[in-house]
Amino acid sequence: MAGIYVHVPFCKSKCTYCDFASYPREISKVESYFACLYREIEGRGRSLQGKVFDTVYIGGGTPSFVESKFILGVIRQIRKFFTLSENPEITIEINPGTVDEQKIKDYKSVGINRFSIGLQSGYDEQLKKLNRIHTAKDFLLTCNLLKGENISADILIGLHDQTAEQVKKTVDLAIAGGVSHLSVYALTPEVGTPIYTDYLNGELLSEDEVADIYDEVRAYLKEKGFYRYEVSNFAKTGFESKHNLNYWQRGEYIGVGVSASSFIDGRRFTNTFSIDEYNNAIIYNKTPEVASDIIEGEDACFEYVMLGLRTAKGISTKKYRELFGEDFDKKYSDVLNKKGRFLDYDGDNLKIKDEYLYVQNDIIMAFMK
Ligand code: SF4
Repeated sequence: MAGIYVHVPFCKSKCTYCDFASYPREISKVESYFACLYREIEGRGRSLQGKVFDTVYIGGGTPSFVESKFILGVIRQIRKFFTLSENPEITIEINPGTVDEQKIKDYKSVGINRFSIGLQSGYDEQLKKLNRIHTAKDFLLTCNLLKGENISADILIGLHDQTAEQVKKTVDLAIAGGVSHLSVYALTPEVGTPIYTDYLNGELLSEDEVADIYDEVRAYLKEKGFYRYEVSNFAKTGFESKHNLNYWQRGEYIGVGVSASSFIDGRRFTNTFSIDEYNNAIIYNKTPEVASDIIEGEDACFEYVMLGLRTAKGISTKKYRELFGEDFDKKYSDVLNKKGRFLDYDGDNLKIKDEYLYVQNDIIMAFMK
């Protein structure tokens, strides 16, 4: 498996919790940005001849905020310079209120077959506080345009005074919209974002409160037929995100555009977060990369364990031996003893017990040598 990630760094306005590379004030740079993005796609594609890619993910930012001609250009350029597998999963992130019938038609015309909608909350007053650009009703209108399509929605927990009941109602709204996949993320107030002030002032839920809501929502989603396949991701069987599964299986991916990260041939690298720096680098035939690391030895082993244990399926210790030439049981016998009560292990498949998946960090860190 291998994936392609494309970053579109434009949004209508900035959400209060957002620390992604998204620049509402730089919308005048859309044309020049995409001109450069096409060039990066060409260059990366040429250098990766021979590799087959199974997924494309257009994220942001709000890719649905820009005119659809740019998105069509991206997909056409990818098809021109990359080799895609026969039925690639092609996802686009959408915000409610930024698409119409024509845009959806355009997306489908180039093979986009998965739509990930940023819902976050089903309560308008919460959406307003987050400076989201849409209402709960806008979400349903957008879903209506996508009837019968493969739809995912993102939901946030940990908002001001949020209750488990409200999150469950938000889940109901998403289900009413026809989603077959849900990502449920705990809000992380990052320094530098407006919501950090609310966090400092104790206006957001505590970690324990968030964990309690998460548990209730997980049980609720199970009742509704959504199984958890990764700590934050729930799907009806067969609707898991292939693109994200590839990340957790330590598969390769190439990221293009501002702030995009890649993992190819054992090297992890990241592009600049600045649109100007990115455009200049591409125009002057320089690399837009600002960080690059070869991941080998113990780091590679730990990455395999850390990423895989985030998923409900866990890891194969036989595959571990094939990949790294070491006996897993011998190497980690102390951890298997110490953390055994949190783990399910049949001699090959190792996973964190369902009830401990949300609090996996401590368990996973024990595998760090
Ligand atoms: S829509 Fe997404 S990327 Fe854009 S500002 Fe909001 S959280 Fe950030």
